[in-house]
Formats: sequence, C-alpha cells, structure tokens
Amino acid sequence: LRPYSALASTATSFPQTHDKITRPEDTPWFIDNEFRPSQAESWIDLHDPATNNLVTRVPQSTDAELKAAVASAQKAFPKWRNTSVLARQQVMFKFVGLVRENWDRLAASITLEQGKTFADAKGDVLRGLQVAEAACAAPEFMKGELLEVARDMETRTYREPLGVVAAICPFNFPAMIPLWCIPIATVTGNTLILKPSERDPGAAMILAELAKKAGFPDGVVNVVHGAHKTVDFILDAPEIKAVSFVGGNKAGEYIFSRGSANGKRVQANLGAKNHAAVLPDCNKNHFINSVVGAAFGAAGQRCMALSTVVMVGETKEWLPELAASAQNLQVNGGFEQGADLGPVISPQSKERIESLIASAEKEGATILLDGRGFKPEKYPNGNWVGPTIITNVTPQMKCYTEEIFGPVLVCLNVDTLDEAIELINKNEYGNGTAIFTRSGPTAEAFRRNIEAGQVGINVPIPVPLPMFSFTGNKKSIAGGGANTFYGRPGVNFYTQLKTVTAMWASADAISKKADVAMPTQS
Ligand code: NAD
Repeated sequence: LRPYSALASTATSFPQTHDKITRPEDTPWFIDNEFRPSQAESWIDLHDPATNNLVTRVPQSTDAELKAAVASAQKAFPKWRNTSVLARQQVMFKFVGLVRENWDRLAASITLEQGKTFADAKGDVLRGLQVAEAACAAPEFMKGELLEVARDMETRTYREPLGVVAAICPFNFPAMIPLWCIPIATVTGNTLILKPSERDPGAAMILAELAKKAGFPDGVVNVVHGAHKTVDFILDAPEIKAVSFVGGNKAGEYIFSRGSANGKRVQANLGAKNHAAVLPDCNKNHFINSVVGAAFGAAGQRCMALSTVVMVGETKEWLPELAASAQNLQVNGGFEQGADLGPVISPQSKERIESLIASAEKEGATILLDGRGFKPEKYPNGNWVGPTIITNVTPQMKCYTEEIFGPVLVCLNVDTLDEAIELINKNEYGNGTAIFTRSGPTAEAFRRNIEAGQVGINVPIPVPLPMFSFTGNKKSIAGGGANTFYGRPGVNFYTQLKTVTAMWASADAISKKADVAMPTQS
C-alpha cells in the first residue's frame, strides 16, 4: 500500500513505517472534489525526516491551476452561502465523524512526512478535530441580534460569509492548522482554497478527501500547492477576500502587509519564544516533567514549545535534575514504540539548530546537555538533534534572541519574580508563557503584569481549546492581534455583519413635509 495512490481512492489505513517507498507517487492537487495530477514544471521533493528517503514530490501549482481553483471556489460560493446553516451543520457533523474514523491514518501521514511521534501526531489531529466539533455549533454562533430601536422601528444584524477565502499553513501541525481553518471558514458559508505546507501536505490531502465524503459540494474546499509563488498569487487574487496564515515572522509579516494592502482581511499567527518562570515554592517534580515535555516534545517544533526557562532564585540548583530527565527521553523514528521525540523537519533545520547551539557556546553559555551528533541506530540518515540544554544564557545571546524551533532549552537566572516578569516582557515575542508556583498571589501578579497572549499557571502549554481563541501578543501575531484564530473571534474573522433597520409603520404613513435633519431615532 502506497500512501499517495491510497489518497486518490478510499483508503482506510496508512502504512505505519519508515520503510523506503519503492515507487513514490506525486502529490495531486484537489479541485471540484477531485484529485488531479499537477501539470507543474517545478516540484519540491519531500523526504521522510527520519530517513531522508523520498516520500513524494509536491507540485508548485501552475498559474492555470491556481486560477482554476479560484474559479471553482467562486462558482461554488453562491449556492453554498445559500445552503441553510442547518444543512452546513450536517456536513460538519459528517466531517467530524470521518476525521475521527481516519484519526490513525491522518496521524501516520503526519509521522511519515513531518517526523513527530505517532502519539504526538494523534494529538495534532485531535486539537484540530476539536475545532471542527466546535464549528458544529454554527446555528448558534451565526445568530444575529435584534433591537426595537424606536417605536415601530427595529434593527437586525445578519452574519454573512465573505466569499472565497484562503489558508496558508505551516509544516509543524499538518492537520491541526488546516483544521483551524476548514471548519469555521466553510460552516459560516465561505468557500476555501487551502495551501498546506509544501513540506508535509499529506494530512491536508486526506482532509480534502474526507471533506468530499462528508458532502461538501464541489469547489467548497480546494487544495493548491507550492511556496512563495502560490502565496503571491493568493495575496494578489482580487476574488480572495481573506487570508489565514500561520507560520514564521519572515513570511507572515510579508503576507500580512501585502494581503492587507490588497484590501483583504488577514489573520496571521507568527513565531515565538515562550518563557517559563520557575519559583522556588513550586512543585519541583511537576515543573521538571512539564518543562521537559513542553521543551522537547515534537522536537521543539511547536509555536507553543516552552523553549526558555527563567529560574528564579535557588531554582537554578535544579538544572542538573532537569538535564537528567531530558537525557532519559528516547529520540527515535516516530513510529517506534517508546519514541519521545522524532527528527527535525530537514537537514537545513538541523544545521541551523546546531549552529545556534554553537553560537551559544561561543558567546559564553554552558551546554549542560548536548544533543548534537546523536543518531538512533536504526535511522542513521535522519535529521537528528537530541535534547539540548543551554544554561548561563543572557538576553543578548543569539540563542535567546532567535526562535530556535528545535529540541533546545535555554535557561536564564534571575533573583526575583519582578525581574523574571521584566525579562519576559522585554522579549519581542509574546505567544505563550507559564509560571510554576504554589502561591496564588504570585500567580496573580504574574498573570496581571505579563505581556503574553496565553498564560499557563502550572500548565506548560496553555493552548486554549476552541471555545476560546488562540491569542498571541507582540511579534507573535500580526496586526496587533485584532484577528485571532477559532472561537468567537474566528467566526468574526470569516463573517461580516449586515445591519438592517426597518420601520414598517411608515409603509402606510402620510406626512406633509420631508424631514431633512439627521435622523436620531430617539
Ligand atoms: P514558514 O513561515 O516557513 O512557512 C509557513 C507558510 O508560508 C508555508 O505554507 C510556506 O510555503 C509559506 N512561506 C514560507 N516562506 C515564504 C515567503 N518568503 N513568502 C511567502 N510564503 C512563504 O513557517 P514554517 O517553518 O512552516 O513553520 C514554523 C513557524 O511557524 C515557526 O516560526 C512557528 O513559531 C510558527 N507557528 C506559529 C503558530 C502560532 O499559532 N503562532 C503555530 C504554528 C507555527
């Protein structure tokens, strides 16, 4: 069974192995509910990060394909927006059921293409599925408001879809991020063009197949591929009304400004450097397990990875225990039993991570645990970096100022909670942060004064569930955080309000003279 031929039909499983694929097949694109081979001239090779064996080739969609995807989504829009919200809800119920049935298959595709462990990949799918489940509440959240604003006069609001919208996704959550977009964009009546990461589009392709099976009409969900060129097409196409982006700052800031300049709504979640403040009164065991899991899980390739700890006071004495716990983690192919973390995404990423570790050494930090040069016996050719802990870090060092996006934890020391808060607030990123303490007042002071979008109190990765919204801060979100993903703000992003004011009594009223003063309705 080969993954990509399976995609075009009705596979129910996906091979859970890093074995070499004898005849890798090209990734198709998806338009009008059909997988089609691309006519692309340029292709991007996709390798299994655990072996560097070729898995598939991903097309750089041609201009004709991109235009066709937009035309398809545009054609589908009038009928889909006029489909009742109850009918759209039924499609979403089916979609939710199918994602659950195909959970293992989606996760296996993620492990093969992205590298994270199978258990972690299942979490990737689940966190996206929960957004789809929340989207089933559309009849409730699509309700408008009504007020009798004056005698015989009422104002009503209608929540309407925008039209064709697009989503540009990162490599690190191949199912979750497409699922932040597909359910809410479509259940609110929009049609969607999805561009998965060119580094791991397999899960998105399975989601497209499931969208078709769930009953989405042709053109409501289309998938195109590529990198910069596809993104530019999306940003410039006048038919596309809104763009959802998740990824790094370089791409995201560009996408936000070009998309906004073209008059589109843009929501853009960007990079991070998430800090934990560790207080001496905390539960040490809970702190160590939490930070080791949150720093090294997914090989540190999560935007909410807890990549920086600020050890307050004597907690710096706990670092050797932290290192011992990190050293116990098993680094291995993601399908292997007991693997705690897999490889990083590419040889270039490994090289970059290693050079940041080397820069820390050069700048005078201590490499307490060094994961460079590690290779699991069975997979000598993968992109491996073992858990690495850098201590005695100062805020000027490159390992602190840059997002490393690998299994590397940097540790700084301060004497007081106030110093910890000041340090964290000075960092230009503000995605997430956590505090470890047993003291309510300490946690409350931290919560009130910290400049980060998501705060965990004894919770290492405080990613909100979909009844809330993903609320980054500072450089971690474009546009001052006005447009956040999922929850009520996610619905607001994909819809616009129309307000209607009616005065039925006037239909039969007769007056002698026109009233030219500004109506005040008071
Ligand atoms: P990336 O920015 O390299 O790529 C994201 C998307 O943008 C991809 O689809 C890619 O094709 C496209 N892209 C890349 N470079 C581009 C360019 N110059 N012009 C136009 N488009 C371009 O990000 P990535 O490496 O795939 O993902 C990792 C990054 O994403 C990290 O910085 C991480 O913190 C961030 N991230 C943030 C969140 C969040 O919610 N804040 C969530 C997940 C990931």
